[in-house]
Formats: sequence, structure tokens, C-alpha cells
Amino acid sequence: MKKYKIIPIFVPHKGCPHQCAFCNQHRITGQLAGVTPGDVRQKVDQYLQTIDSEKHRVEVAFYGGSFTAIDKAARTALLAAAKAYKDGGKIHGIRLSTRPDYISGDILRELEDYGVTEIEMGVQSMCDEVLAANNRGHTAADVKAAVREIRRFGFGLGLQMMVGLIGDTVETSVRTAKEIAALKPDFVRVYPTLVFKNTPLYDRYLNGTYIPLSVEDAVAICVPVMRIFEESGVKVVRLGLLVGADEAQDSLAAGPYHPHFRELVEKRMSINVSETVGNAGV
Ligand code: SF4
Repeated sequence: MKKYKIIPIFVPHKGCPHQCAFCNQHRITGQLAGVTPGDVRQKVDQYLQTIDSEKHRVEVAFYGGSFTAIDKAARTALLAAAKAYKDGGKIHGIRLSTRPDYISGDILRELEDYGVTEIEMGVQSMCDEVLAANNRGHTAADVKAAVREIRRFGFGLGLQMMVGLIGDTVETSVRTAKEIAALKPDFVRVYPTLVFKNTPLYDRYLNGTYIPLSVEDAVAICVPVMRIFEESGVKVVRLGLLVGADEAQDSLAAGPYHPHFRELVEKRMSINVSETVGNAGV
């Protein structure tokens, strides 16, 4: 199987009508100019200079806010810029990230027309109380409906979940992982909640109404979550948020950040397994 090479294009979502408790997109968008089709071409050309598209599966990835919630003219202009490379055989796929409540038959038809191959959706929790407490603006039923539609069209599907959100517990995290695994995505990403400055979560952290998980607690919660995905055969492509050095200094205020978070969880999983094996003979 060919190795993946991803050309990441960060599309800050200026027009996002939401303000999820943990999200600092509004702050980020204040600092970055909008992305244009010219920017897409420049980035793809730059990456293609060093990627052998014969040997690799090359995909353009629109990351950032909620791609399908962006104004239609702007999003189709970006997609058209990427599609030209796909039509020319220089890239093999286009992926993007979005929210469950901005998926519809019309939107999926549009994405199909523009050559999109994979959709990654921010789910964060499958518990409505947790979704509401974090001001997500959608429900678990919206997630299930969106997954059904995405699969009906035949797109690849990735789902993201978080642990340590406002109102989250070990039980709600385990329930979320079980419900996500039952939806049979192609892959998942799992993020412990971090507190970034200039977010509603930061205000709650400052006034003492939100206490972030420690690294230790986040690891302990992620162990059963990882087991659920492992046992269901769902690939976890990322565990823990990547935070750049500048961003960490500038905006990360608190939370269970560790540069090798996944290794901590996997180490704990292997210890638990050897404890179980050890106990089995007693
Ligand atoms: S997480 Fe997504 S939907 Fe929520 S505020 Fe940020 S960009 Fe908007």
C-alpha cells in the first residue's frame, strides 16, 4: 500500500457561528488572513516539488474550522483549486474537516462533484448533556444522521472525540467511545481537552468552575477508550493534541498536555495487560 503524503491547508473559519467552550478559532482567525484559491495552488505546487506522486498517495487536506459551514462560493472556489490537481493526476484525494450539523444531501453532492474523498467530523462527545455544556450546538442524533449520509455517499470517514470536556466523566468518555466505535469510522482521533486562552473554557478555568484533567487522569481515561477502539478494529490515528512550541507558550493556559501523550497511554495499557496476565495464574 502506498504511503500517504498530506498537503495541509489550514482554513481558519472566520464565519463560524458557534463558540464551542474549548475553541480558540475566533482568536486564530483574527490573526490570519483568509485562504484564497491562489494560496491553495501555491501550497500544493510547493509540496509537489518534493513529493513523488507516483510512489505516494497524495491528498490535500482542508483543516481548521468547519469547512462545509463556510460560505458556498468561498468553499467551492477552494475545492475547485484542489480538484484541478486531482483531475490532472497530481494528487489522489481531497479531505476536509467539519461539523455534524453542516452535512446534508446537497452539501455531500457538492463535495462529490468536487472530488472530495474523505470527511473528518468533530463529534467530541456522544452525550447530549456534555455537548450542551460545551456549547457545541448539535446533538448525538445529528452525528448519527450525518454518518449515515456520509456513508450513503461512500466517502471515507474519520471521527474526533475529546475527553475531559465540561461535564465529562470516565463513564461519558467510555460511552462516547463505544458509540463512535459502533458507527464504524475508518479512523478516529482522540484529544484530551486543553485550556487555551481567550476561550469560554479559559474563563471557567480562571473562575474555578472548570478544573482540567491532570496528565495522569487523562491517561487513565484514555486507556479504556483506546481499548474500545482496539477491540472494535477502529484505527486511532492520533491521541493527544499537537501543540507547536510558539502556541504552547502563547496560548496554552492549562490542561493535560504532554508531547508524548500517546506513549504514556500505551505504556499504561501494556502494564495493565501484564497485570491481568500476571493475575490470571493466581
Ligand atoms: S470547534 Fe469548530 S464549530 Fe466549534 S467554535 Fe471552533 S470552529 Fe466553530
